[in-house]
Amino acid sequence: MEVSRPVFKKIVSRATKKKQLECPVCGFQRLIDADENNMSELIAEESMPEGWHPDYFQKCPNCKKQIGIRKVS
Ligand SMILES: [Zn+2]
Repeated sequence: MEVSRPVFKKIVSRATKKKQLECPVCGFQRLIDADENNMSELIAEESMPEGWHPDYFQKCPNCKKQIGIRKVS
């Protein structure tokens, strides 16, 4: 008799190193996670300079501001 067991796929943890980008407005520490090699600029939507275009937007759960995030590298 075959014993059915749940199959656990072995997920090889590549120990994804992450860093947390903080909110430029209120300093909230976990605005968004990024790869540790990621370089990003974070500017609140209301204070984005002209010609600066973010790749992403993230709303800060703390101060509720829309933060524009631009990947630099
Ligand atoms: Zn904030």
